[in-house]
Amino acid sequence: MNFSIARRRMVERQVQGQGVKDPRVIEAMLQIPRHLFVEEAFQSQAYGDFSLPIGDRQTISQPSTVGVMTEALLLQGGERVLEIGTGSGYQAAILSRIAGKVYTLERIALLARRARRVIDSLGCVNVNIRVTDGTQGWDEEAPFDAIIVTAGAPSVPDQYRDQLAIGGRLVIPVGNRGDQVLMRITKVAEGQFTEERLIDCRFVPLIGRHGWQEGES
Ligand code: SAM
Repeated sequence: MNFSIARRRMVERQVQGQGVKDPRVIEAMLQIPRHLFVEEAFQSQAYGDFSLPIGDRQTISQPSTVGVMTEALLLQGGERVLEIGTGSGYQAAILSRIAGKVYTLERIALLARRARRVIDSLGCVNVNIRVTDGTQGWDEEAPFDAIIVTAGAPSVPDQYRDQLAIGGRLVIPVGNRGDQVLMRITKVAEGQFTEERLIDCRFVPLIGRHGWQEGES
C-alpha cells in the first residue's frame, strides 16, 4: 500500500471535504504519517475516516475530526498548546507542526510511552508528555494560547478556563458518555468567555477528578 497517496486522498476527501481550509492544518496532516500511530494490523485502514483502537479501550480519533478540531484552535504558529488525552500521539504530532510548544496529558502510562516513541521517531522535539489526570490541566505551564480536549467531558472543568491566556481558545467535546457537542470557548477577558457550538461528535470519556468517574454513565 502506498501510504503517502492514501494520506493525500484522506486529506483531500475527508479533511478538506469536511470544510477544513486552514493551510497549516492541511500541510501538517499531509506530513504526519497516521499509519505509524496504530498497530501494524490496522495500518492498512489508517487513512480511512474512522477512529481505530489503540489499546486499553482507547482510540485514535478519525482524521476529519482531528482536522476540524485543529482548525478550530485558530493557530497562527508559535503558540503554547495544551492537549488533554495524548492517546496515540497523532493529534500532538499534528499540533507540533503548527504550534511552538505542545503539552499533552495522558492518564494511561502505556499509551503515553508508545506515543513518546512515535513522536520522537518523527523528530517532533517540541512535545512534552506527562502521565497524570488531565482534568486538572497543567498549571505550572499555564497560560496556554489554546487547549484541546480529545475525550468527552460531562462539563467544562474550571481549570481549563483558568489556564487559558486572554484571547485563548478551548476546544472541548461536552455532553453525555455517548454523544457530545464540540464547543469552542474563548477567554475574551479575565473571567469572561464566549461559547460556540461547532459540531456533534462522539469521544471516549474524559475520566478523572473533574470528568467522569470510572464506571459512571
Ligand atoms: N488525541 C488522541 C490521538 O491523537 O490519538 C486520541 C485521544 S482518545 C480519543 C482519548 C484519550 O484521552 C485516551 O487515550 C484516554 O486515555 C485519554 N484520557 C481520558 N481521560 C483522561 C484524563 N483525565 N487525563 C488524561 N487523558 C485522559
